[in-house]
Parts: sequence; C-alpha cells; structure tokens
Amino acid sequence: MSGAGRPKLVVVGCGFAGYSLLRGLRREHFDVTLVSPRNYFLFTPLLPSAATGTVEFRSIVEPARRRLRHVRVVEGRAVGVDWPRRRLAAEAAVGGASFEIEFDQLVVAVGAETATFGVPGAVENAIAFTELEHARAVRRRVLEQFARADVPGADERAIAAGLTFVVCGGGPTGVEVAAEIHDLIVGELKRAFPPLASRARVVLVEAGPRLLASFDDALADYAARHFRREGIELRVDSPVAEVRAEAVVLASGESIATGLVVWAAGTAPSAFVRALGVELDRAGRILTAADLRVPGREHLWAAGDCAALGDPPLPATAQVAQQAGAHLARALVAVVTGREPEPFRFRSFGMLAYVGGSRALVDLPGVKWSGRWAWFFWRSVYLTKLVSFANKAKVLFDWLKARLFGRDLARF
Ligand SMILES: Cc1cc2nc3c(=O)[nH]c(=O)nc-3n(C[C@H](O)[C@H](O)[C@H](O)COP(=O)(O)OP(=O)(O)OC[C@H]3O[C@@H](n4cnc5c(N)ncnc54)[C@H](O)[C@@H]3O)c2cc1C
Repeated sequence: MSGAGRPKLVVVGCGFAGYSLLRGLRREHFDVTLVSPRNYFLFTPLLPSAATGTVEFRSIVEPARRRLRHVRVVEGRAVGVDWPRRRLAAEAAVGGASFEIEFDQLVVAVGAETATFGVPGAVENAIAFTELEHARAVRRRVLEQFARADVPGADERAIAAGLTFVVCGGGPTGVEVAAEIHDLIVGELKRAFPPLASRARVVLVEAGPRLLASFDDALADYAARHFRREGIELRVDSPVAEVRAEAVVLASGESIATGLVVWAAGTAPSAFVRALGVELDRAGRILTAADLRVPGREHLWAAGDCAALGDPPLPATAQVAQQAGAHLARALVAVVTGREPEPFRFRSFGMLAYVGGSRALVDLPGVKWSGRWAWFFWRSVYLTKLVSFANKAKVLFDWLKARLFGRDLARF
C-alpha cells in the first residue's frame, strides 16, 4: 500500500485498453502511474487518413497529461518485472535512463508489434504502419517521390519505379492505406503534378486468396471491384518473398520496382510481453482468465492486443481493447473494495473500413452496407469514437478544410 493508503496501480501502455482503463478510474481508489513511451493516446483508425493529410497528425492524438490528471505519467518503455519485489523495470523514453516502479497491481496493455514473418528486408526497407511516425514517413515519402520525378531530365525508369507505391497486407489497415494514397494522387497530386500523377501506381499485395478476410464475403468483393475500377492494382495469393531497397519481390518471382513499401501485414508480441514469463497462446498473447487477470500471477492483469481474451480469443481490435480497458477499471475497483470482479463480456458493434473515393464498408451484425452512405456512417462513427471534444472538433475541421482547400502538400 502507498503512504496515502491507496494501492499502487501501474498501467503499462496508453493505447485503447490502457487509456479507457485510466479514464474509468477515480483518484480515491488507486495511486495510479502510467508508463508509456508515447505521452499521448493515438486514435489508430484515422492513422491512414493522417498519412495523406485528410486529417492532421495532431488531430488524432490526445496528450495523456491533459485528460488523465489523476494519473502520474512516466514516459518510458517497460522492459521487465521483478515479481518477488513487485517492481516494473523500464527505460526512459527520453534519455534512456533505467528506472523501477513499485506496484500492488500491474496492468499490461502494451498492444502488439508489427510481424514481418521473417521476410528478408521487410524491417529495413518497408515502413510499418502502427505509429504516428510511420504515417508521417509515408506522407513525406510520397511527396518526395513526386518531387524527385518532377526534376527536369529525371530518368524514365526511375520515375516509373519511384511513383509505384506498394502496400503489403490486404487487411483493413492495408486496404485503407492503399485507398488513402490513391485518394491523395487523384484528389491532389493530379493537379499539382499533371504529367506525373497518371503514371503513379498503387499496388496492394495480399498473401491470402482475398482482401479483408475478416469481413463479409460480399463486402470484400465490393472492395476488390472498387479497387480495380479505381485503378488500384491487386495481387492476391501473393506472399512477399523479399523487400529490397527499391523493389518488392513476390513468391511468384514477380519483382515490383517501387518508391515506397508500407508493411501492414500482421502483428507479433512485444519483447516486454515475452519477458514477462507468463503463459502465452500460439500467437504470443498473454493468456487471461475470464476477469482479465493473468492466471498464476495474482497482481497481474492484461488487456488489448497483447492479451488473448476469451475462448476462442477475440480479434485484436480497438473495440475489444477499449471495452476490456473499461472492464478492467470496474474489476480493479471491485478488488480494492473487497468484491469479486465480474467476467469480461464483449459486445461486438461490427467492423468498418474505408475503401477510397468516399466509399466505405459497414459490416455490422445483420447489416452489410457499402458505398457512399456507408462512408458517411464510417465518418460519423469515428467522429463519435474520438476520445475528446478537442479531437472531434479538429477532425471535423480537417475534413472540412480538405474538402474546401485540398490536402496540404507541403513537404517537411
Ligand atoms: C493503422 C491502424 C488502423 C486501425 N484501425 C482499426 C479500426 O478501424 N478498428 C479497430 O477496431 N481497430 C483498428 N486497429 C487496431 C487497433 O488499433 C488495435 O487493436 C488497438 O490499438 C489495440 O489497443 P491496445 O491498447 O491493445 O494497444 P495500442 O493501442 O497499440 O497501445 C499500446 C500502448 O502501449 C505502449 N507500449 C508499447 N510497448 C510498451 C512498453 N514496452 N512499455 C510501455 N508501453 C508500451 C504504446 O506506446 C501504446 O501507448 C487499427 C490499427 C492500426 C495500426
């Protein structure tokens, strides 16, 4: 117990699970510390839009210290746990100093890392797509490639390669990134670089037989037809064999010369999760009991993409992580007030995906919807799901600004 009599709760990670947990706690129950390398919550569903300037980077983040005033925020990366002494070991995000934090209860909500499945060159030559830095890198690279191609006397083959943008992974993230890059090309770059934009290609590569495997078949077919109509090239049944500095090589032997490779092909457990020494499932996620406690570790709880919740495990989505975080807030208060926590129950609200050209997919229980009205619905849902009034207002203004004045093409 802390000096003030409140138990020490340490939450590791400020994503959907950690943030919703922290928002659900009040000061009187715990002495709470958040440990996270980034000092903000990131609304990932709009990250593809940020990569192309449909919304601005700062509109989809919420600084932790502004909204979590009851929480001590420590900017660091957890690296391990000393269980007998109940201390979390971490490294400062700025400066790298090592430090420890004592806890009575520990919540691990560190999300997942990008899986490259051992594909040679994927780590070195592709841009992952989970963080704000990645969206910024994609935006800059697309603009750089156009600037390079526009230089008088530029080599024709280099222009063709530089203006080919390859996205690996046909799940919702890959589909949305490909769609947003295509929107940027036809919506803005066509006017800015009239002779070049028609030469730009967006290629979406998927190892499995179809896009959007987690979506309803008819909706996934709609997305594929829409992409073909818009001129986005699809390679399904096409595992990537290698990512080189200037080409993506497919298992079929096809080599696609490219100026940008985005890797959105899967998730893997983080080094911290592997270092915890608890039981993991086959996907490397922490096995949890019905109330999200970790069996065998009385003081440890896990939620979000790093945890296997339910049997069969629930999908690794923001929706699951957010509900699990809210559940944990209730469960931890139950523990501290001497009650037994309830089991976690997930309520699915369905899935959404943007496919470009102001079209989206809506896959709700009993409702399958695609096209322009689905896109309005997609936007309204995300507007309501953004975590603060400031985020909502900024995103709404960004959408209006992009429509009225176009996306910002400044390269910096
Ligand atoms: C581009 C993109 C689009 C997406 N779109 C959707 C969507 O439309 N709908 C949907 O349901 N899901 C979507 N997802 C999935 C969704 O983002 C995740 O399922 C969700 O973020 C999981 O929440 P989480 O809290 O487990 O992890 P995250 O939100 O990833 O947060 C993890 C947190 O842990 C921190 N962290 C990591 N390692 C450490 C460490 N060692 N020590 C301390 N802190 C650490 C991170 O900095 C971060 O703050 C999308 C994902 C991406 C990448």
